Amino acid sequence: AAQGPAIMVNSCTGKMGHATAEAVVRAGLTLVPYSLTGESEAVAVGNVGVSGIPVELVGPEKRQQAIEKIKSEYPDLVLIDYTLPSVLNGNALFYCDNKLPFVMGTTGGDRDKLLADVKASGNYAVIAPNMGKQIVAFQTMMELMAEQFPGCFTGYKLHVAESHQRTKVDTSGTAKAVVKSLNKMGLPYTEEDIEKVRTVDEQVGRMGVPEQWVDAGHAFHTYTVTSPDGSVVLEFKHNVCGREVYAEGTVDAAIFLHRQVKAGAEQRLYNMIDVLSAGAMR
Ligand code: NAD
Repeated sequence: AAQGPAIMVNSCTGKMGHATAEAVVRAGLTLVPYSLTGESEAVAVGNVGVSGIPVELVGPEKRQQAIEKIKSEYPDLVLIDYTLPSVLNGNALFYCDNKLPFVMGTTGGDRDKLLADVKASGNYAVIAPNMGKQIVAFQTMMELMAEQFPGCFTGYKLHVAESHQRTKVDTSGTAKAVVKSLNKMGLPYTEEDIEKVRTVDEQVGRMGVPEQWVDAGHAFHTYTVTSPDGSVVLEFKHNVCGREVYAEGTVDAAIFLHRQVKAGAEQRLYNMIDVLSAGAMR
């Protein structure tokens, strides 16, 4: 049998879920051949292939029954959730009720409730809106800079532009978090000030997104800090094409979480900074 936990990815029908399931297989871990999904999809599609493994789709109606069977078959189980903001709170409760450690990559939903539910249950979880370790390391560095040098950019101006696939309607969560750090460095700026770049011309021309990644999933961010007279410019950038960086980080988080469960760690709720701080990267 493979080393490490068996991993169930919900939902393998989604873009992130599928990429993460592939990363699980690449890592040599056991991919549980079942995946939770929406009811209509479970009925209409039946199963989905991941790196040649047929994964059976399970809708909400049959999930309790299915999870009991899966638990007995794979006692060392870690769940990964990449679903929808509208279902993540219900999914988290389901995982907690079944005492299954999980990695929550889905963004949105009611975040306060999510944290409160996990804490109340005593379940183990890694919850992070960004599983890309390298990007999280950058984000953390910005926060450390804010703590070390508060007000270091006082009087300077900030401009933030983020580019994602056109279907993304909300503002990048990572950009919002970095702006919070920049605020502490003396740069007044609100979430609403962040420029959302969603047209192909600007994405390719101004942001430098390679054409094949315009619709295939990209996350480009540029933070420009300028002195009042324009004689000093600092530019911070993090540009990601595709989903692999998140998928790989998610697998690291799952392996880390499994280790914490095995060790009976006192801390039960983690984020990606905890994974980074533990040096838990392959
Ligand atoms: P997607 O629409 O491709 O996939 C969502 C999937 O959830 C769909 O396949 C849908 O069938 C499934 N689903 C619907 N109802 C369900 C239910 N009740 N139970 C289980 N599955 C259900 O979306 P995506 O692009 O894969 O993104 C998923 C989420 O991940 C979003 O919130 C996105 O913002 C987030 N995301 C997070 C990171 C990160 O690093 N943490 C990176 C990328 C995306």
